[in-house]
Amino acid sequence: MRRRGRFVVLEGLDGAGTTTQSRLLGERLRDWGAGVQWNTELTALQQESDHVTATLKQPDGTARKVTAAYVAGCDGGRSAVRKAAGIAFEGITFPEHFLVAGTRYDFKRHMPGICSVNYTADPVEWYLLLEIPDMWRVITAADPAVEPSEAVQESRLQASLQNLLPRPEPYEILVKGVYRVHQRVAAAYRRGRVFLAGDAAHLNNPLGGMGLNGGLHDVLSLVPRLVDVWNGRKPDSELDGYEPQRRPEAIHAINAITARNKKLMEERDPAVRERNLRQMAEIASDPRRAYDYMLEASMITSLRRCGMLR
Ligand SMILES: Cc1cc2nc3c(=O)[nH]c(=O)nc-3n(C[C@H](O)[C@H](O)[C@H](O)COP(=O)(O)OP(=O)(O)OC[C@H]3O[C@@H](n4cnc5c(N)ncnc54)[C@H](O)[C@@H]3O)c2cc1C
Repeated sequence: MRRRGRFVVLEGLDGAGTTTQSRLLGERLRDWGAGVQWNTELTALQQESDHVTATLKQPDGTARKVTAAYVAGCDGGRSAVRKAAGIAFEGITFPEHFLVAGTRYDFKRHMPGICSVNYTADPVEWYLLLEIPDMWRVITAADPAVEPSEAVQESRLQASLQNLLPRPEPYEILVKGVYRVHQRVAAAYRRGRVFLAGDAAHLNNPLGGMGLNGGLHDVLSLVPRLVDVWNGRKPDSELDGYEPQRRPEAIHAINAITARNKKLMEERDPAVRERNLRQMAEIASDPRRAYDYMLEASMITSLRRCGMLR
């Protein structure tokens, strides 16, 4: 967002700027000459032919209007920018909620041979077991028949962890949460002078770890275009290339692969499960197919397909 010839980045409705990552990013942006305004909320957006006016709610609660040449809405799944631009968020919301629990329990010691990222397919209760820097994050689906507020109760999470790996003592659960899961893609990534990127443009289930990565790929496409147009090196039409480069990847890579992963994990038909496992084993035993599978899972194929990587 431009203000008096500079970029302004708005960050955070929820005390952002307090995490190490946010602080480091903020400092870096300032080094590059961008202004950063923490805890500032965009509440309205109006487009004219040659500029956009954003209404901002500042940390002290007062409103302020800012004009900009372009706005990039990277404001998450509930994107105020997307709503203000009148862009539909097409797709579905799954009936079940996902549960997340964080524990420092040493799964690697008690489940020898597991990796840092593990998917446990199970007809009743599947798990994603993920080692993050200071703990293990365990994700599973809540029973749709149980109220989300009930599903996230300590006793239910304990039962779920005990099902994953039984032990005599209860688990120490340091973090817990319950959230809705969507497969949605914005009907447009550009409307006039407004762009969408990241979760504002696409939401997917977390099985495959593609949401954040896909968002980074969006901005790797959008930002160089904005910089070129901003500096007068390229015409505005350069920005037209953003949507065709990124939106098909949200549909055919990010959404398609994460949806396939969810289906694989929750499959209940024993014959289909066996066939899926056999197919996976065949891929793993064929170096060429295993390599191609990894290129796809790591989103390198997606980057190549949309021309962002040779
Ligand atoms: C449990 C879980 C596990 C996940 N695991 C992975 C993984 O392994 N790999 C992966 O790639 N992805 C993963 N994801 C997805 C990933 O977290 C998201 O895709 C990513 O955080 C989206 O980043 P974003 O910047 O687009 O949006 P967000 O992280 O939602 O950030 C949006 C920002 O905009 C701010 N904002 C919102 N509205 C306004 C407004 N009106 N004005 C100003 N600011 C505003 C918010 O405060 C926030 O700071 C996971 C998600 C979950 C829930």
